[in-house]
Amino acid sequence: MRVGFGYDSHRLVEGRALVLGGVVIPFEKGLLGHSDADVLLHSLGDAILGAMAAGDLGTHFPDTDAQWKGASSMDLLERIREMMTARGFTLNNVDCSIVLEEPRLKNHIPLMVRNIERLFSMKPARVSIKAKTNEKMGFVGRAEGIAAYCAVTLADKEAPNE
Ligand code: MG
Repeated sequence: MRVGFGYDSHRLVEGRALVLGGVVIPFEKGLLGHSDADVLLHSLGDAILGAMAAGDLGTHFPDTDAQWKGASSMDLLERIREMMTARGFTLNNVDCSIVLEEPRLKNHIPLMVRNIERLFSMKPARVSIKAKTNEKMGFVGRAEGIAAYCAVTLADKEAPNE
């Protein structure tokens, strides 16, 4: 088993869609970034790459590359899934925290969970996503941006008992 950890943050701005976990969430602002700026999937992608000691999102999908401009982060995660499969790993479980003051995500979280479960063909009850505020402290507290933290375990298909 391998453990991976990922962190990401993006600035909240007007005139952008808010996409979290592949779900478009109705809100007056969205996250700024080269791709769709899905902070949750970016932290998940970094966690998976980290578990494989295979670099980070920035090295695989540089924001200087026009190919990734406006890209769906679900597509980026699909590439990462392919890298994972090629290396003989499967995604065992996912545990994430999204830190934001608003909007409330409670009703959207089941869809985010399903997106991740489907993308990685996971068994039920292996994906956890929590949302919490930062108690009005710092850049998240001032609603200048959203942060996400993600921990994963990967199972090694080649050597399941090692
Ligand atoms: Mg990012």
